[in-house]
Amino acid sequence: MEPARSIGRLGFSKWYERRLIEAHAWLLTGLLCAIYVGVSLEGLSFKGNALVWLGTTGGTFVGGLIVWHALRRFFAILGEAERLSRQSTCSACKAYARFEVIRAQSRIGVRCRRCGNEWTMS
Ligand SMILES: [Zn+2]
Repeated sequence: MEPARSIGRLGFSKWYERRLIEAHAWLLTGLLCAIYVGVSLEGLSFKGNALVWLGTTGGTFVGGLIVWHALRRFFAILGEAERLSRQSTCSACKAYARFEVIRAQSRIGVRCRRCGNEWTMS
């Protein structure tokens, strides 16, 4: 049902804007964690307390996982937003993002607010 329900509730332009903000928040999170991982690797030393080494290594591993997840989310959200954006222009009157959702299924049925033309987005 998502993203059809969100698009129907917010309108396409607002939904698209929010998706871009969310994608870039994930990108920023990934970059900050990448900096953390880099700094942690810089300070990693095999001489010294084993408990500190274990903590640093664990933090680096978790930071790496967050970087991986954040980049996956960034590209997934951006890909979905761009895919739907390419389909949000009415083929009859060329109005961009001026439609209402009429079917919220896996393929989103929409109707142009300007001319009433209907098409599906997937
Ligand atoms: Zn139209």
